This record gives sequence, C-alpha cells and structure tokens, in this order.
Amino acid sequence: MSKKGGKRHKDYSVRTSLIHNDYDSKHWEYNHPLVPPMNVSCAYRLDSVQRGMKGFAQFATEESENETPIYVYERLDEPTRGILEEKLALAEDGDVAVCFATGMAAVSAAIGINVSSGDEIIAHHLLYGCTYSLFSNWMVRQGVSTQFIDLREVSKLAQTITEKTRVVYFETPVNPTLELLDIREIRKCVEQANKKRADENKIVVIVDNTFATPICQRPIEFGADLVVHSLTKNIGGFGTDMGGVVIGASRFHRSLLLYRKDFGGTLAARAAWPLLVYGLPTLATRMEQEQLSAAKIASYLENHPLIARVSYPALGSFPQAELARRQMVGYDGKFAPGSMIYFVLKGNTAGAQQAAAYFIDAIARSSQSVTLAVSLGQTRTLIEEPYSMTHSTLPDTIKDTAALEPGGIRLSVGLESVEDIIADLARALDITGNKVLEDKSSITKNESRV
Ligand code: PLP
Repeated sequence: MSKKGGKRHKDYSVRTSLIHNDYDSKHWEYNHPLVPPMNVSCAYRLDSVQRGMKGFAQFATEESENETPIYVYERLDEPTRGILEEKLALAEDGDVAVCFATGMAAVSAAIGINVSSGDEIIAHHLLYGCTYSLFSNWMVRQGVSTQFIDLREVSKLAQTITEKTRVVYFETPVNPTLELLDIREIRKCVEQANKKRADENKIVVIVDNTFATPICQRPIEFGADLVVHSLTKNIGGFGTDMGGVVIGASRFHRSLLLYRKDFGGTLAARAAWPLLVYGLPTLATRMEQEQLSAAKIASYLENHPLIARVSYPALGSFPQAELARRQMVGYDGKFAPGSMIYFVLKGNTAGAQQAAAYFIDAIARSSQSVTLAVSLGQTRTLIEEPYSMTHSTLPDTIKDTAALEPGGIRLSVGLESVEDIIADLARALDITGNKVLEDKSSITKNESRV
C-alpha cells in the first residue's frame, strides 16, 4: 500500500514533482503480476547519451535479438506489443511476429518489404476488397503490377510466374466465398521457380490467415513464408481494437521492423494489451464454440427450401472437402473448419439479390442474436452482403469469374446460443419467403392486366 503523500525532490516544486514523479519507485515490479502491464509511454528515459546511441544502433539488428532491449520510442519497439508478438509467433509456428495498427497495414508491410518498382505480384483473383484495392490502385503507382488468377489451378500459377514475380498472395479460406487454396501445392510450384533464383529474388508466398486463425490452420507448416492477420477479427475477438500482424521466418524480421518504423503503422501498446490479455487467451475456446455452432447453422441453412447453396468446409457438399480436412487442422490434429459461412438464396441473379436484401433487412430490423455489420470473428454473430459491401471495390469481371454473386451472404458465427441464432435466421427466412411470394403474385397480376 502507498504511504500517504508522495516524495518531492527538495529542489523542485510540487507542480514539477507531479509531472516527473518517482521513477525509481518501489512500485515497479513487473515479474510477478499475472496480467502483463500495459505500457503507455511513447518515449523512454535514456539515462545517458551512450544508452541512447546504443538503443538506436541496436534497433532491428540480429545482435540485439538476444539482448535485453533498450526501448527508445514506441513506434520502434515497446514491451507490451513485444510480448504479444512472441505469443503470435508461437501460435502460427513462425520465428517472429511484427504487429501493425490494422490488418491492412500488415498486408501493406508484408508486400512492401518484398517488392520494388518493376516487380510483379500474383494474387488469387478473389480477395478482401481493400487488399484488392491496395494491389490495383496503390501498388501500381509504385510500379508494381499484379496478375489476378484463379490459384485453385496451380498449373496456371506456373504459367503466370515471370522473371519479375516476387510475391504470390492469397487468403485461404477465401473471403467471403470460403473456397480453399492448396498452400502445399502452391509452395511446390513456387519452389520450382525459386530453384534458379538468387536468395534476394526468390518468390515469397504470403497467406492471409484471418478467416481460419491459427486455431484452425497454420500456413507456415504448409510452406507459406509469411502469414498475415487482421487482429481486428477473431484474434482480438471482442470487436474493440484494430490490429494486424505479419508472422514468418527471422530473415524477414529486420525489414518488417524497419518498414514499420518508417511507414509508421505501428500497433499502439494500448491496443496490443487487450489482444494479449483478452483476445489471445480466449481464442481457442471461442473458435471451438463458434465452429460447433457454425456446423449446426450451415446444415440448417443447407436444408432450407429458400437456400440455393451453402459454403462451409465441414459440409458433405463442400467441393474441396479433402483439402479442407488436410489443411484446416487444429493443434490437436482434428479437422477445424472455422466459424465463417457463405450462402446464396434461390432465384435468378436479381431475384437472389432481392431475396438477400429482404432477408438481411429482416435480420437488421428484428434479430437480437444476428447483427447486420461488416467485420467478422467477434463474440457477436455478424451478417453482410459482400458483393455490395466489403467486396464492392472488386470489378464486375472478377466478381463474375470468382462467382461472387450479388445476394451472396457472409455469416460470421459468434458465441450466442446456437438455437437463438437459428431461430432468428428462420424468422428472417419466413419473412423473406412471404415477400418473395408477394412479389411473384404482384408480377402475375400485372401481367394478367396487360
Ligand atoms: N484480411 C481480411 C481477410 C479481412 O477480412 C480484412 C478486413 O476485413 C483485412 C485483411 C483487413 O483488416 P483490418 O480491417 O484490420 O485492416
């Protein structure tokens, strides 16, 4: 317990003492609290010019890896985020992790450290909308072009790789349709091309593992060089903090740290703390529960007469069931299909989109357990229409070839009681059915009047 009245240096006023405080206080003791401290200092006392010089000189160097860090400034390095990074590297079976302010800052860094003007990226044609926009709007300005192809056909990748290719980039499961890409096969193909290349020109495989999380899939085990996550999603889990991370081999560490230092998209310690204290420790339990619910919800939806198609890796109808069971595996070796579902209502294109609007609006108006919102991987179940929302920036040609149809619905299953979620979906589907019938009968009436 603190004594009443703090110390005041005899030469200074209370006013100054209130600012400077007593830093060699007996209250600092960081080895015993069960919960790690949230560091909130942007800058660090350096004690001497020598220490300051050393802090700068050893930042992002190999020699510093085994030394006690000299913290200088939060954007470079700081302890709360550092502890989180060690845990994230462990979760993904990587050597190192570097955290960023958002998932997009992490994606930009993973790409940014591997390309320069004149280089090419090969990406799966269906990607989260902002990642697509990063490649097609911003990377081109830096002289880096992207070939968007269907990476399910690995032979196409072999044909598309050129001298200039530096990065192969994809999500698996793909946001939002949940098709899978075979990381091991893609790695094999890249390995073939890399045989003839010098180390600095080797093609790097980057996988966005946001949908699966390390609980359901660890891409590095299958040959990915770098894994990226939006920490805003399942790893954060509660929808309160944004973040991103790049995880991989130690050879990438230095460039990631330097890139982050200079582009500045650093994860603040205040945002790292809840990820470390609430998000990561509950991730496995949340994912396991959400995945149990998702399996029940997917089979309910698949058997509903208004629904044309459901995509969920555990369904018997999932076209890549064998790959799903090989690649989406928990730490215990068991199949781990995740918590995301994509489905399409019946009807021609316009009909399915109208039905989806009726359905989602009914959810937005009257559902307690399912919320119309973008983002995913939260304790709350979230629903959205990617075609016109998260993936609206994709050009129609890509939406068409990648079968991202208007009216397709993305459901991110949360922790509510699964019975409540199904009851809310059922009510909204009833309303949708009635509205579709009303539309049909008014069309018939109008036709008979003509
Ligand atoms: N990757 C995927 C698969 C996403 O769904 C998202 C966001 O929805 C991002 C990356 C970007 O993450 P953030 O919103 O944290 O920047």
